Amino acid sequence: MHLYLHIPFCKQACYYCDFHFSTNLSLKDKMVDAICTEIELQKDYLQNKKLQTIYFGGGTPSLLSGGDFEKIFKTISNVYDLSSLEETTIETNPDDISLEKINEWKAFGIDRVSLGIQTFDNDLLKFMNRAHDSHQSKLALDLLLTNNLENITIDLIYAKNAKEFNLEKQNSILKRDLEIINNYNLKHISAYNLTIEDSTVFGKWVKEKKLEPIGEDYAAEQYEILIESLTAQGFEQYEVSNFAKNGKYALHNSAYWKNEEYLGVGPSAHSYNRFSRQSNISNNSKYIDTVASHKVPFSLETLGVSDKANDYLLCGLRTIWGIDTKKISQIVGEIPQTFWDALDILKNQNLVVQSGNSIKITSQGRIFSDRIASDLFFD
Ligand code: SF4
Repeated sequence: MHLYLHIPFCKQACYYCDFHFSTNLSLKDKMVDAICTEIELQKDYLQNKKLQTIYFGGGTPSLLSGGDFEKIFKTISNVYDLSSLEETTIETNPDDISLEKINEWKAFGIDRVSLGIQTFDNDLLKFMNRAHDSHQSKLALDLLLTNNLENITIDLIYAKNAKEFNLEKQNSILKRDLEIINNYNLKHISAYNLTIEDSTVFGKWVKEKKLEPIGEDYAAEQYEILIESLTAQGFEQYEVSNFAKNGKYALHNSAYWKNEEYLGVGPSAHSYNRFSRQSNISNNSKYIDTVASHKVPFSLETLGVSDKANDYLLCGLRTIWGIDTKKISQIVGEIPQTFWDALDILKNQNLVVQSGNSIKITSQGRIFSDRIASDLFFD
């Protein structure tokens, strides 16, 4: 079973970000207490009490102090059996990494660091309003690697919607980023195409015509550069946006893609137990107040047969593991002819391949995985 904790605070707002966070840290202590209370309140959500992964996401969990982690881990170990724990990840920003923090995290059993590097280009970092620069990213990597926290994944953003950075310049920045990554011999990378959401600063700039969204062809060209370079470095693309060396897959995120159950704690966190999805309220003070009255503020979506099947298609087709028609039958019963007709069209377009019960996306289909899944959706 898997536990996600959402830590909703950041030093400053990145212009592209639509995650739930606040730059006002005054509620941090109360939030940590509320998260601990929610862990207790939700103790029966997961039937199996053996945790396999814990993931601190956000927001910026590296803003938490040693005392904050102590409270949270104490609560987790009161509720769950940690004897089968395989991975504990913390999302961090390069400017938060210090020897003191690394030692603290290791002492609490945190064994994997997700570092939000995004790019090593300082102009682009400024353009996105990131709080760190490229020098800090390199220092952070050096410090982690020399202090035995080598299980590192980094986040990269490509296809940045920057008018002042034309495609040629963006391509050369991406290539340089990939060369720097090569020098560090990292084992895991997540790379995301920058999408513009209305609620973000970039979304506002697009509305005001100060920023022109990048074309899909540009994004596809950068995606190809990325795949080519990372494959040459020995990475396996095991999910549309994720690359690993030597089978060092992200266990927590793989659980989402494999349709396993998880509990999400904290404001805006999501939970899934095969029958329903829950989403916690995305408001820090309302979350704290409601949890203080021993209730968890969430909305519930009960999953029907087609929701379950479509979730399975959407997640599975993003990965090298693909989907299994036997599993689909277990969810929907007899698979309707419309599914097989749509599958034939996708096979003829060389977007998916089928071998027995197994259906996987081809390298040509990778960039269209969501569209391919929706072509196969059940009503
Ligand atoms: S640090 Fe991460 S969560 Fe915070 S604003 Fe930036 S991208 Fe969003």
